Amino acid sequence: TAPLAEVDPEIQEVLERELERQRNTLEMIASENFVPQAVLEAVGSVLTNKYAEGYPGRRYYGGCHEVDVAEQLAIDRAKELFGAEHVNVQPHSGAQANNAAYMALLEPGDTFLGLALDHGGHLSHGMKLNVSGRLYNPVPYHVRREDSLVDMEEVERLANEHRPKLIVAGWSAYPRQLDFAAFREIADSVGAKLMVDMAHFAGLVAAGIHPNPVEYADVVTTTVHKTLAGPRSGMILCREEHAKKIDSAVFPGQQGGPLMHVIAAKAVALRIAHTEGFRARQRQTVANAKALAEALMQNGIEVVSGGTDVHLVLVDLTSTGLDGKTAEDRLEKVGITVNRNTIPFDPRPPMNPSGLRIGTPALTTRGLLEEDMREIAGIIAGALSDNFEAEHKALLERSRALMQKYPLYPDSQRPTPAD
Ligand code: PLP
Repeated sequence: TAPLAEVDPEIQEVLERELERQRNTLEMIASENFVPQAVLEAVGSVLTNKYAEGYPGRRYYGGCHEVDVAEQLAIDRAKELFGAEHVNVQPHSGAQANNAAYMALLEPGDTFLGLALDHGGHLSHGMKLNVSGRLYNPVPYHVRREDSLVDMEEVERLANEHRPKLIVAGWSAYPRQLDFAAFREIADSVGAKLMVDMAHFAGLVAAGIHPNPVEYADVVTTTVHKTLAGPRSGMILCREEHAKKIDSAVFPGQQGGPLMHVIAAKAVALRIAHTEGFRARQRQTVANAKALAEALMQNGIEVVSGGTDVHLVLVDLTSTGLDGKTAEDRLEKVGITVNRNTIPFDPRPPMNPSGLRIGTPALTTRGLLEEDMREIAGIIAGALSDNFEAEHKALLERSRALMQKYPLYPDSQRPTPAD
């Protein structure tokens, strides 16, 4: 019963300092968000004590009646939210969800198509060091040089040439929407299954402001902690015909006991995702990203594909003469957290590429609006200019003013975002 501060003051201090760090930065990592207090409560609950291998009503352990309720709520809410026939809420993470989906749909050595990592794909879409690249035979497709959009002609050509068993559509760094109908058509033309990894844009789908891949794909995987603003974890949605294979690939295929505290928190996040408040926030997230892209371009900063339709902007640093690492460091010095990122056809190495990925979900949860994005674009432009040394203190003050205007988790150790 002793509190954390007494049992482990070192970890207590980490929690406190991390809360301060989150408060004292403008968080613009596109894959991050601030979860509501209710989600934190569920994650930090006694449900972490429970073993529950199996599925609701079919467990390998006794005493599962309460966690069964939690898991069934999460499943039902996800099914309704996305219009899915079947949902598995047990994957511990997005990468685990993808691995389970591959396991259900492929045999080792099988060929699949995925967006190249350096063109915006995710490492779990076939990077050679990832299990997806070691166990299977991934063939990467790319974006077009002229407009940075996914090259559907290449996808079709590669599909005909390699006859993949699976085509994966989805991205980690791509500022536009994918044409799911075109992917479906190509998959059907070669007898392949279609999997969409909607990890980044799941919140936009839930809010009805992005095409819903569930209508087109055999299997849809996602994380829950990005735009969806739930606990760090994954989820798989699929057609009924794949339900058995997906469930058995997650457990016992990939995982043992499910994280019931996290699954309860997923249920909470999915309940919130049904509200008008959530939908309004997703609309604001995209409006903020559009305002940011516009204002960056007005400040002379290049943006890949000339804008965005989603929650992130991909900055092309080439014309600034800065590399990604320098730009990321400079932004950190003016109070803005982002990550450096490859841009399509990047001449620089992945560890120090030519781009920045800048996302709006976390700051939108914090309450920032379009006018604030224009102010941030000005701060970023200043930080990336030749006057950085002379101006960086003043730029940091401008960031601090925004942090003060929109306090994060104002009255406690714990967060209290809008909903
Ligand atoms: N899929 C996509 C498209 C992602 O962007 C990510 C994470 O960034 C993942 C999967 C992996 O999720 P996790 O980090 O939870 O394993």
